[in-house]
Amino acid sequence: MNTSRIAARVRRIKPSPSTSAADRANELRRQGKSIVNLVVGEPDFDTPQHIRRAAAEAMDKGATRYTLMAGTVELRQAIVAKLTRENGLKYEMNEIIATSGAKSAIYNALAVTLEAGDEVIIPAPYWVSYPDMVLACEGAPVTVACPEANGFKLTPAQLEAAITPRTRWLLINSPSNPTGASYTAAEYRALADVLLKHPDVMVMTDDIYEHIRFDGQSTPHILAVEPALRDRTLVVNGVSKTYAMTGWRIGYAAGPRDLIVAMDTLLSQSTGNCCSISQAAAAAALNGDQSFVSESVAVYKQRRDRTLALINAIPGLSCATPPGAFYLYINCAGLIGKTTPSGKPLSEDGDVVMYLLESAGVATVAGTAYGLSPYFRLSIATSIEILEEGCTRIARAVAELR
Ligand code: PMP
Repeated sequence: MNTSRIAARVRRIKPSPSTSAADRANELRRQGKSIVNLVVGEPDFDTPQHIRRAAAEAMDKGATRYTLMAGTVELRQAIVAKLTRENGLKYEMNEIIATSGAKSAIYNALAVTLEAGDEVIIPAPYWVSYPDMVLACEGAPVTVACPEANGFKLTPAQLEAAITPRTRWLLINSPSNPTGASYTAAEYRALADVLLKHPDVMVMTDDIYEHIRFDGQSTPHILAVEPALRDRTLVVNGVSKTYAMTGWRIGYAAGPRDLIVAMDTLLSQSTGNCCSISQAAAAAALNGDQSFVSESVAVYKQRRDRTLALINAIPGLSCATPPGAFYLYINCAGLIGKTTPSGKPLSEDGDVVMYLLESAGVATVAGTAYGLSPYFRLSIATSIEILEEGCTRIARAVAELR
């Protein structure tokens, strides 16, 4: 391919490592290998029936045309009501924009705010897309390692040290992909105290896993803790994870009007509004019966508990109990330095992941993708039988290391 015609800002980014890992697992499966795929971060449940029905009804009623760029009035009213009801946050409809997934909300917010070289503070481990989105917008990702000993969370001192005159955003994802780490209200208070000293730093909260919690706690919001941050905070969320709607592609952002208007303008000149039928479905999800949420979380919790016990019984592996999201971020420091039966040394987590894939047929994602090693991530958004099979295979493969 003629790479010189691809823009430098795009040549700096790479495909999502989780997508690449899933592609590799599917390729091996096509070759006839038995693969336990623990890569994908999407609910294995069907979208609840009342949501699907709302989509079908919307189609039948002719909701098949362009909508307002920011999203239908119906959907934005549902988002306003949701933010009040679940987060204690007050927004007007014109402070909200619906986007094609939370991913698009984050990307577009960065695209309308970053000048070349502007810095974005990203606590690591992070969701794989954040640094590449920043790079795609010509910004500079500033990753801050948040070790397991600190619960994989950013401390106020780390935040203070990372802020420079070029800092445009702090990105917060709680509960986090990949660790499930969740900030408490007290931890938010301490981070907010630092932010209050730096009025030019904006805060983007990615709340996509807010309801996937196993500790019986509700997820606090930094804005509810410190309302004075409101005019520089962008709240990002979506329906993908909470309502098993990854394919419908509806996310949203709520924030200061100037930011929402800029995103509206950029989206109006690029993708246009998000899918009209999906918007009707998302409104039904937010307004309708919420029992699916607690039912699915109960299932995730069983899977988390079972998988955690199996993983922590394997010598050389350990995993802290994640309070939320649907991943285990497994510490594999105990395997580094060992040798595979074919004589290959495991010198980093990427080697461990490759070994598990090739020798045991278990597909996971290496910690290097999330910015903190040596770890690997597995998704528990799959059946308990598949998780048990995966853990059995991992245990067998680990036992063969020397
Ligand atoms: N944020 C995080 C932390 C995620 O893990 C994901 C999905 N993997 C997204 C955002 C994107 O979600 P959506 O489907 O709404 O684009």
